[in-house]
Amino acid sequence: MLARYDYLVTGGAGFIGSHLCERLIAEGKSVCVLDDLSTGHLSNIQGLLQQESFHFIEGSVLSVETVNDCVNKCSEVIHLAAAVGVDNVINKPVETIETNVNGTENILKAARNGNKKVFIASTSEVYGKGWKVPFKEDGDIVLGPTSRNRWSYACSKALDEFLALAYNHSYGLPVVICRFFNTVGPRQSGRYGMVLPRFINQALTGKPVTVFGNGTQTRCFSLVSEVVDCVLALMDTPKAVGRVVNVGSTEEITILELARRVREISGSSSEIIIVPYEEAYPAGFEDMQRRVPDVSRLMDLIGIRPEADTATIIRKVIEYGIPEGAR
Ligand code: NAD
Repeated sequence: MLARYDYLVTGGAGFIGSHLCERLIAEGKSVCVLDDLSTGHLSNIQGLLQQESFHFIEGSVLSVETVNDCVNKCSEVIHLAAAVGVDNVINKPVETIETNVNGTENILKAARNGNKKVFIASTSEVYGKGWKVPFKEDGDIVLGPTSRNRWSYACSKALDEFLALAYNHSYGLPVVICRFFNTVGPRQSGRYGMVLPRFINQALTGKPVTVFGNGTQTRCFSLVSEVVDCVLALMDTPKAVGRVVNVGSTEEITILELARRVREISGSSSEIIIVPYEEAYPAGFEDMQRRVPDVSRLMDLIGIRPEADTATIIRKVIEYGIPEGAR
């Protein structure tokens, strides 16, 4: 069957997906999106829905028939659809595991039929409780026990990586796998536990900015437009096939400092409150203290990496504002 679209983007109505689709359409590519709108929203792709080269299908990556149909229509697949966000992972563990594991399996099986290149979105969560920062793609991973379902997200994404690499090794399927570190920017929703939109929303509405844990845990935040640059460059780089690649900024910031900067840049007088994990999450919640990517593989492959500094990113998100439905 002749492909009608250049790309299938699963999860294309989501945060990263909508930015990626906008970029592809701006570059003259045609795009088909498959999204069940569970955490994504049509408002994210409002500007694209009328475009002739853009097609939206509301459906799930869990439907084999839908996935086969969508993959058949496209030349390459960018698979972003997943159950995401700490809140979802903790409160809906079955959906998280099934969506992330079975959804990816469906995509890989369908792609194998037409030998289509597939991008798989993985996550820095895969490094789990590893303490040897910066994290290298081939370093050991240290996950918590299966009795704490917080680790099911990391484990489901690690299984996605194993499966994608197995399809590459066993069947020669061209796959590119990225481990995204905290990706942020305009349109990200704070509803499912994402820290930056939540802080900005709290600061802009004069509510207390709530820092979970003791605030000394660190993260590295990348701007979504730069992450999109990296994804597309990696998809165009033959040497990236069959590789797992960290995509993230290396600027490390504590969550307490992030809260302070949000308050300062937004000009808010909100107080900053420390909320221990025991109060913020169900019993037994565990977090990782530091998460910093080693980006040497990314640089070797494409020569670019996310570089925007945290203050610039905060300004951009504040400028855009947090839409009502995304709070
Ligand atoms: P998002 O929630 O905005 O995007 C996920 C999209 O997938 C949503 O539009 C949602 O409706 C859709 N979706 C969920 N289940 C689906 C299903 N069964 N069928 C079809 N669509 C479904 O989140 P995001 O931040 O844009 O994440 C995109 C990808 O990047 C995910 O795979 C996520 O695991 C990964 N990732 C994101 C980050 C980050 O910091 N944003 C970090 C690491 C990894």
